[in-house]
Amino acid sequence: MRFIGPHVSIKDSIALAVGRAAALSATGFALFTKNQRVWSAPPLKAEEAAAFRKAMDSNGYASRAVLPHAGYLINPATPDEDLRRKSLSLFLDEAGRTADLGLDTLNIHPGAYREGSMEDGVKRAAAMIDEVLAAIPGIRIAIENTSGAGTILGSSFEELDMLLSEIRHSSRAGFTLDTAHLYGAGYDVKGDPDGVLDSFFSRFGKDRLFGMHLNDSKVPLASRKDRHESLGHGLIGYEPIAQIAGREETQGIPLILETPDESLWKDEIRMLMEA
Ligand SMILES: [Zn+2]
Ligand SMILES: [Zn+2]
Repeated sequence: MRFIGPHVSIKDSIALAVGRAAALSATGFALFTKNQRVWSAPPLKAEEAAAFRKAMDSNGYASRAVLPHAGYLINPATPDEDLRRKSLSLFLDEAGRTADLGLDTLNIHPGAYREGSMEDGVKRAAAMIDEVLAAIPGIRIAIENTSGAGTILGSSFEELDMLLSEIRHSSRAGFTLDTAHLYGAGYDVKGDPDGVLDSFFSRFGKDRLFGMHLNDSKVPLASRKDRHESLGHGLIGYEPIAQIAGREETQGIPLILETPDESLWKDEIRMLMEA
């Protein structure tokens, strides 16, 4: 089974996100667990969580088809004590919401270390992820690869490996690979999509891939930049992404579109389902 769909809005009510995905014939989807622009949001009410679960059931979505994305304010690698405290508190809150919604995996960016050594940043990010895994036993954390601008962690398989090896609760830690981020980081998913994935699987194994973000890229290979484009409209092109969606290892995990033109989502989903 292919779980393919976009990152949908939670505007007005988180339960409405499910219908938004279903209206596009998506077989999976992503969402934020709360307004991602604010540090604190009202707690998720039991009725809201119940409405979400009911909508999941009635639209036939299993929790493994859905990959919530943690808010961008969270910086697990930060050296700043105040930001670290706020990040941890929000990360715990979002992981708790993920569990309350009946979902099992939360996607997070490893963050930017800002100053000092990369290795210290890795230790801080891993420690925060560990703390969340320890506090919320029902969930898994998917660390998303990045294009690696500035001091942002997670742009190479080596760095992802360093993160994973610092996490004690590592049986519930894995990765999300974003094709646009791979390309920006210098992995040639256009020229050799299978080779890039094979090198990930040979290092981590198939079971560490918790999900993928299938995006085309506006910016060149190894640009260290992160600018998504609609499938087939960017520098990667449609074919390599379809090839990834067709691989045996990417069946049964969420394959999420974070592409900019919502009017193309329905076509993008259909094309990938047929790939
Ligand atoms: Zn992301
Ligand atoms: Zn992404």
